[in-house]
Amino acid sequence: MPAVNSPHLIKPGSRFDIRATKTHGDNYHPSRKEAEEQFEELREELIQWQYKLYAEQKQKLLVVLQAMDAGGKDGTIRKVFTGVNPQGVEVTSFKVPSKEELSHDFLWRIHKAAPATGMIGVFNRSHYEDVLVVRVENIVPESVWRPRYETINHFEKLLADAGTRIVKFYLHISRDEQKERFQERLDNPGKHWKFSMDDLRKREQWDDYMDAYEDALNNCSTNHALWYVIPADSKWYRNYAITKILVETLRDMNPDYPESEDDLSGVVIE
Ligand code: ATP
Ligand code: MG
Repeated sequence: MPAVNSPHLIKPGSRFDIRATKTHGDNYHPSRKEAEEQFEELREELIQWQYKLYAEQKQKLLVVLQAMDAGGKDGTIRKVFTGVNPQGVEVTSFKVPSKEELSHDFLWRIHKAAPATGMIGVFNRSHYEDVLVVRVENIVPESVWRPRYETINHFEKLLADAGTRIVKFYLHISRDEQKERFQERLDNPGKHWKFSMDDLRKREQWDDYMDAYEDALNNCSTNHALWYVIPADSKWYRNYAITKILVETLRDMNPDYPESEDDLSGVVIE
């Protein structure tokens, strides 16, 4: 599968160092104003591609979003997919697994949510939680989570073989940026619902999470399901970079309107 070239791609087999990777987009785009304009153009193009993907009914696109709390998953979904036909996009948010979900293997609930033909599926959190929070919180022992990297690679290969293009984004924010966003949520009563004390506990485990993310991304950026690390401290750059990669992916998938099954050449409407 041809990789969409991007400075944020983790090349399979290469070694990504999370602490050496910038969280600021300013390093990658010289002008905020230009990036915002380009984002609007790319977003329009995304809408056109999604229309064709849905009409064609042959391929599907899975977009995985992972980030620390306040990393911008919700905002990304809101901004990037504004204007796309809701009928062709399905967003699934993965929360703490229910009792029923826990009584199955960890991919059971994920597989059910994978996009159908013609659809764009967006995962707000994903099966990667099972090697992130589950590892950091010691929910299962290492002997259980460690083999999951390989299981995930096999699972994603299965989806790819069934015609799914998979693009995975880790929204990379700094610990300082997270502090600012939490503070904003605390200061604004309209954002209190987005804040939980659990977020602070997880913030204390920042280093453990960085280790877990680094391993997950290094082990699971494969030719059939690549990881991109998006500098996400500035939202304008995050939106631009993600939309650019999605549009370039769709250009490569190149969905097209299908021919009608009927011969329409002589049709006259009375
Ligand atoms: P927001 O950014 O708005 O807070 P969120 O994605 O954090 O949204 P929450 O309901 O706050 O949504 O949290 C969902 C929680 O579920 C997260 O803390 C996440 O780590 C946890 N979670 C998701 N999948 C699993 C899993 N497989 N095992 C354990 N916990 C999980
Ligand atoms: Mg949360």
